Amino acid sequence: MNSQNGLKLPLSRLEKVQSWGMNREVLGYVYRPSTVAGLQEVIATARNAGRSVGIRGGGCSYGDASLNSENVVLDITRMNRILAWDPATGIIEIEPGVTLQRLWQYVIGDGWWPPVVSGTMFVTMGGAVGMNYHGKNNYKMGPVGEHVLEFDLLLADGTVINCSREHRPDIFFAAIGGFGMLGCFTRIVMKMKRVYSGLLEVDAFATRSFAEIARVFEERMADDDYLVGWIDCMAGSQNSGRGLVHAARYLRADEDPNAPQTLQVAYQGLPETMFGLIPKSIMWRFLKPFSNDPGMRLINWARFLLGSTLGNYKTVRQSHAAFAFLLDYVPNWKLVYRPGGLIQYQSFIPAEHAAACFDEQMAICRKFRVYPWLGVFKRHRTDNFLMTHAVDGYSLALDFPVRKRYESRLNQAVEEMNRVVLESGGRFYFAKDSTLTRQDALTYLGSDAVLKFQRLKAELDPNNLWQTDLSRRLFGDWDINTPHPRPLQEAR
Ligand SMILES: Cc1cc2nc3c(=O)[nH]c(=O)nc-3n(C[C@H](O)[C@H](O)[C@H](O)COP(=O)(O)OP(=O)(O)OC[C@H]3O[C@@H](n4cnc5c(N)ncnc54)[C@H](O)[C@@H]3O)c2cc1C
Repeated sequence: MNSQNGLKLPLSRLEKVQSWGMNREVLGYVYRPSTVAGLQEVIATARNAGRSVGIRGGGCSYGDASLNSENVVLDITRMNRILAWDPATGIIEIEPGVTLQRLWQYVIGDGWWPPVVSGTMFVTMGGAVGMNYHGKNNYKMGPVGEHVLEFDLLLADGTVINCSREHRPDIFFAAIGGFGMLGCFTRIVMKMKRVYSGLLEVDAFATRSFAEIARVFEERMADDDYLVGWIDCMAGSQNSGRGLVHAARYLRADEDPNAPQTLQVAYQGLPETMFGLIPKSIMWRFLKPFSNDPGMRLINWARFLLGSTLGNYKTVRQSHAAFAFLLDYVPNWKLVYRPGGLIQYQSFIPAEHAAACFDEQMAICRKFRVYPWLGVFKRHRTDNFLMTHAVDGYSLALDFPVRKRYESRLNQAVEEMNRVVLESGGRFYFAKDSTLTRQDALTYLGSDAVLKFQRLKAELDPNNLWQTDLSRRLFGDWDINTPHPRPLQEAR
């Protein structure tokens, strides 16, 4: 939509907005309202100017999910109040801009912890529910949406509706994971998980292949509360899939005599220095000399060597925050991926095909000489959300550096990996995606789900107000039986 159709938006609102992976930067008209009335005003302004509105939380999606080039970016981070908290039941009512960091810090002292957390605490809960994020306990606790009791959703016409499993369940199961396409959460009610200690008991050990790590996960799923694998993606074909497992379980009330202390926020804090010496704020600079394939090969090799020898079969007690937010230990670690940034490629594969599919992905990487610097392996289960990314199986998340000189090889590798994933009955995840095509997305979601989603979109947002760069890339002119969603200008 261009401004000839309406009022011009003030240039003072134009800001650079970046994807978390730093591989895409666009200009958008950024508004940061702090109340529902403020949100409604932004919608009216956008409509008058003939612009679409893309909702943005913490901006932690790796790709273009919270970008809206040359249109309105509705930044909800100032809507960050905790509205009600009941330490007896663990039910909390929050505005969508409350970060995961604020949430866990608010509830832990009362013996509660968010039931599902992502690898970083800098996400907002609106963004978390918008993507229906999962944690290292997805096989046990499902995605965050399973712990949402109700929410208020601001619709494109400015009205606010309340949704739950009982009231408008169709919207409830579509807006959770609906990547901001049906409306903006303005209030979320969730249930926390009771914990009796601020510590987890964590086992660490090495595995030698995708088949082995999958077998170990199957054996441990019933007893462990969290399971995560780190994969050395730079190991050669002989060692494909080797890695380290971290398995954690909650402590019972009688297992931590210091629970009143360990449940304090101060006890949970990540250390300010690494190795007791280097301020963590500058740690990424020490990694910078290794930010190339040989350097990362060395780091991956050393990590596996240490983990499979000194660290093998070690059991330690670790705080919830230290276990959950390992990636936040080194602030700005993503800067080692500059100048080109990174993309994350996460695919979700049914259990019976997972090991073979991930081995094939590694072979494709070697064939095209594009090497992920980081690989993370998780167990998942299916859920009832319309646009779900989960399967009864495994995911592998691969961080690829983006460099001009091998961009075309990376594209070819991703294209081939997509084919393998789709042939294996796999799925993808909008929060991580930068590369899917419309056809890929349609294939994994299935036309039934897409059609249902489009019908809801047509009902709730007939003029296609809510858009992002991702939605235009993947939904722009999807046309199964109905013409929605369609570009805003066509709707007027
Ligand atoms: C280091 C790192 C580790 C991560 N680890 C995990 C992980 O373990 N598991 C996992 O599942 N994900 C993980 N993620 C991805 C992350 O959890 C999701 O991208 C999450 O959606 C980010 O939240 P955000 O507040 O930054 O949202 P944004 O990225 O800003 O937005 C995400 C989506 O939600 C929509 N949205 C935002 N706010 C609202 C709202 N109020 N109402 C409606 N829609 C809204 C946006 O339009 C967008 O489509 C990780 C990301 C990073 C950077």
